Amino acid sequence: MNCKKAQALLSAAVDGELSLKEQQEFEAHIAKCADCQREFREAQKTKNIIREKIVRFKAPQSLVNSIIRLTETTTG
Ligand SMILES: [Zn+2]
Repeated sequence: MNCKKAQALLSAAVDGELSLKEQQEFEAHIAKCADCQREFREAQKTKNIIREKIVRFKAPQSLVNSIIRLTETTTG
């Protein structure tokens, strides 16, 4: 695998959507290519931050929904 191929697979690799063969080739490439390894780590970090933000935004929304439901029940 060359850098161009690795870059093309990068986001799928972060999402864990590579086939077993692609995954192995990708890991073999980033094991010896510092540039691609750094980009992969950055992409993983970004994805984790986004996931955390989604979780944080979802929690208040469900809280809001239960408060609305509670209010409706109380007022009849
Ligand atoms: Zn590379």
